[in-house]
Amino acid sequence: MNHEEIRLGSSVIKIVRGDITRERVDAIVNATNASLRPGGGVCGAIHSAAGKALTEDCRRVMADREPLVPGEAAATVAGDLDAKYVIHALGPVWHGGDQGEPEALASAYRTSVEIADKLGLQSIAFPSISTGIYGYPMMAAAHVALRALRLALERAHSVREIRIVLYDADAYEAWLGAAR
Ligand code: ADP
Repeated sequence: MNHEEIRLGSSVIKIVRGDITRERVDAIVNATNASLRPGGGVCGAIHSAAGKALTEDCRRVMADREPLVPGEAAATVAGDLDAKYVIHALGPVWHGGDQGEPEALASAYRTSVEIADKLGLQSIAFPSISTGIYGYPMMAAAHVALRALRLALERAHSVREIRIVLYDADAYEAWLGAAR
């Protein structure tokens, strides 16, 4: 089987392997930094694939607001990506787990779903937020994320499909384990 599904009434969370920049969904979530700069990791990949329009819209959004704090998110255009929006979510840096990391990570997922829902969107693709450069242990992150996403989906009006797109085999296996 090449993906795992968690069905919740008429909604679904799908865990898939792939490159998030190739997803065709209403919104692609980016694991961003506080100032929505291109950066590295999945953020760098999303900015390169989306092109100049995305980076410019990030600058426009940041001109009107303070830097994001962990758990916050903000929407921009999606440039050349096959999506209507990119939702930039800031996850926490891992400091051992007792500095509010689980709450901030849950908030990053929940807030992204809420923003998509306010925009009337149906489908969202997420990367595994905070588990790269920010060092959040993969399995622990997957558990926090799945719980937050399940609750957010229950409350959502328009969002029906959430895809978690894992780039490498280890991440994919950890998320499958957490889902089961
Ligand atoms: P953070 O700073 O939030 O930890 P990173 O970009 O370093 O963000 O990593 C987040 C996750 O995204 C990592 O597990 C990384 O393997 C994954 N990733 C990197 N590139 C892609 C991609 N193109 N599609 C999906 N996931 C990706």
